[in-house]
Parts: sequence; C-alpha cells; structure tokens
Amino acid sequence: NDGSSDSSSVSSKIPTIKFTKLFINGEFVDAISGRTFETIDPRTAEVITKIAEGDKEDVDLAVRAARHAFDNGPWPRMSGYARGRILSKFADLMEQHIEELAALDALDAGKLFEWGKAVDIRSAVKTVRYYAGAADKIHGQVLKMSREFHAYTLLEPAGVVGHIIPWNFPTTMFVMKVAPSLAAGCTVVVKPAEQTPLSALFYAHLAKQAGIPDGVLNVVTGFGATAGAAIASHMDVDMVSFTGSTEVGRKIMQAAALSNLKPVSLELGGKSPLLIFDDADGEICVASSRVFVQEGIYDEFVKKLAQKAEAWVVGDPFDPQSRVGPQVDKKQYDKILSYIEHGKREGATLLTGGKPLETEGYYIQPTIFTDVKEDMLIAKDEIFGPVMSLMKFKTIEEGIKCANNTQYGLAAGIITKNLDVANTVSRSIRAGVIWINCYFAFDDDCPYGGYKMSGFGRDLGLDAIHKYLLVKSVATPLYNS
Ligand code: ADP
Repeated sequence: NDGSSDSSSVSSKIPTIKFTKLFINGEFVDAISGRTFETIDPRTAEVITKIAEGDKEDVDLAVRAARHAFDNGPWPRMSGYARGRILSKFADLMEQHIEELAALDALDAGKLFEWGKAVDIRSAVKTVRYYAGAADKIHGQVLKMSREFHAYTLLEPAGVVGHIIPWNFPTTMFVMKVAPSLAAGCTVVVKPAEQTPLSALFYAHLAKQAGIPDGVLNVVTGFGATAGAAIASHMDVDMVSFTGSTEVGRKIMQAAALSNLKPVSLELGGKSPLLIFDDADGEICVASSRVFVQEGIYDEFVKKLAQKAEAWVVGDPFDPQSRVGPQVDKKQYDKILSYIEHGKREGATLLTGGKPLETEGYYIQPTIFTDVKEDMLIAKDEIFGPVMSLMKFKTIEEGIKCANNTQYGLAAGIITKNLDVANTVSRSIRAGVIWINCYFAFDDDCPYGGYKMSGFGRDLGLDAIHKYLLVKSVATPLYNS
C-alpha cells in the first residue's frame, strides 16, 4: 500500500500527446484568445501539457459550424443506415486505439490503465456500435384520429446539442453523450471537463477519420464558467445534455431558461445506497458510498470488508498491481481529505484508511467509516472519492427508509436471496437504477439517470436516442367531405 511501482514498466506506457487544440468544423485550431490552460498528471501533480482554452467566442464558432452542418449538411439528411455505417467505422477506429485511449485517461484522470483497456474503452466501443445499429431503427407511429384523417408522427433530430461532461469517466461520458445524439442525426458541441480534455480530442480526430462530416462533432476544451456557460446560454444551441454536480446542473437549467428555453437533460450527483440483508452470502464487490447492513451480519461484514479494503493496492494507474489510482486533481484531493476529517470529528469510527499516501501525486487510501449516523455530512454529501460509510439497519421497512433518506436518487443496490424482499425494495426505492445482487452493472441497453435531485433524462438505452429526437405529428384529411 505504499504507492511504489516498477517505474520502467510504467514509463513505457505513457502516451505521447498528439492533440491539444480545439476541434471546430473538422479542424484543430487555437483558441481565438490564444490562451491555454494546463492539464495536470494526478500521479505527480506535474503539468502534462497545455490545452487550448476555449471561451465564448470559440463556442460561437463551434455552434456556428454545428448549426451549418445541421441546417445544410448531409448528416441529418442521410439515411439512418448511412449514419450507422460511419459510426461503426468510428467504433472500429476506437477499437484499434484502445491501448492509447486507455493510456490517455490513465494519465489525465488517474484511471486504472488495465481496467480502461479491459472495461472503459472496450465498453465505449460497444456503446458506439449499439447506437450505430439503432440509427436506422428510428421511426414514429401511425395515429388514429377520430375523423377521416391520415396522421402519423415523425421523429426528427433535436438540432445542435451541447454536451457538458465531467472528469470521472472521460471516455464513457464522451461516448454515451455523443453516440446517441449523432445516431439521432443531431450535430454536437462537446465541452469535456477541464481536468480531462485529452481523450475527447483524440476521439474528435478518430471521428474525422471515420468520415463524420466537418461541423457535426466539435470539441471545445476550456472551463465551465466560460466555455460551459456559453454553451448553456447559447441562443443557437437547441438542447443541452449535462452530467456533473447538482449545483452546476441548476446553473445550466437556469441559463437554458433565461436564453432560448432549450430543453436540458441533467445527470447529477448521487449518494447511492446499498442494502445488504442478513441472508446475503459470498463475495460482494462493494462500490457504494452508503452501505446499510442488516444487524445479523453487520459485525462479520465489517471484519471482512476491512480485510479486503486493506489488501487493495493504492498506486500508479499504469501499474497492473494497483486497485486504486490517484484522485483527479488537488481540489478533489483536498475535498476528500476534508470530508474524512469531518467524519472523524462528527464521531464516526474510522475502520480503515483515512490518510493520503506519503508520496507525490493525489493518492488517498480507501477509507471506511462505521458507526455513521444518517445526519452526518459524510452520509449526506456526494464525496466522489474512495470513502464509504457503513450503517446498520434492522427491518426491511427501516432499510427502505434509510435508502430513501437522501436528496438524491441515482442508483441503489440490494443484496439478498429473498425474491420478495428484492422485489419489494426495488419498487420502494426512489432511484433511477436498481442493481439486485450486483453493483455497477451498466449496459448499453439499460437507461441510466436519476430521480429527485440526481436529475432527469436518461443516458444509454433507446431512451437516450429518444431524448435527442423531437416528435412531430402530421395530419391530413383522407377526402374532402
Ligand atoms: P464535478 O463536481 O464532477 O467536477 P462539475 O459540475 O463541477 O462537476 O463539472 C462538470 C462539467 O460542468 C465540467 O465540464 C465543468 O467545466 C462544467 N461546468 C462547471 N461550471 C459550469 C457552468 N457554470 N456552466 C456550464 N458548465 C459548467
């Protein structure tokens, strides 16, 4: 657990950075202001490279390109099949660069390199293929009017879509926003998180190679308060899809309301509960921030969990031994450590972890608190780090009440062999995603998104394509009476 690693095997995996500029209308260009910002390697806190800092004027250019591509270009007009063919090519190119893409996310976000190769990037390839296959299956309905009319619905692309995404899953976020919107026939302007711009620019390069026409996919790197806000308030952006904090989600909705009333879809914070019932057995892979354990197995569970967490190696994301990489940046690192201090002060028991590693970079031990009370800050706020709070419950009713005792409603997990309990609890928890006897079971066909202050609108699944489509109903009389 000392963060050390075989440095020669690590250095051979560090990728060369090829793209650092904004991608607008099919070209990599500097920001109009000429400004750049530094993206930081969370393993060392050193600068990786300088990235073009897009601002309002650059967003204007990107939106103009996307508008033109939507209003006059081939993309929304070509057949769904033709769009699907190009998206399939994009997926093939991603697949040929899995190693390089995983390395970019490891370097920029501290994501585990091996995990990225096996899971994140590989799943992203599948996601693009899923939507490539869906592109020619978008159709409306024939309607039955009460008069002698022929009526039907057309599903039309929503137009220019702005995507504002966070740093936690740079690749997954990029793909799960871009793929369904492109499949639907929209054109897009993406603003990646300022912490993790590298892979998004690489995806832009691959998209061009795949034959996605100029202006259809634009990437403006930069900060939230400038580039992000410019997208949210732009009069020529027809829709915004955002993933990030509840606080920023509120600003985006406000900016949309105050500008052109563009619809927004928001995937916001979560404080997802996991309920473990007495009859649970076997190995449980826990990745939830609020874990409620039924009293009969609580002590045993705590013991096993502590052993597991202590065996996890915290270290360089390029080292195959590592199970936990660094936190994305200094701000996040400081925030997590302050929550840990808060937990201790509020009287929770530190079961394991709780400290940063004494090395360079932003490494924090996996941290588990027991004796957590529901009104403690660590049980309420989204911490976004390797910090888990354990709590005890007695009855099913109490478990449900605890799980729902949050302003959020993103996901929840239930571990039990009792079918009745699983069914009852699934229906009683106010969250957009329920995992029974599993956790983090994402799939392209499973819509993902929140209830309550976790937002609204769904990513993934066919629901996500439909969010980028508008319904037009058309009616015509069958004969003149
Ligand atoms: P996190 O807490 O995960 O960093 P944020 O909500 O702060 O999430 O950021 C998610 C995305 O929203 C990032 O791309 C960020 O630059 C962007 N963003 C931040 N503030 C604003 C804003 N006022 N308007 C639009 N986008 C913003």
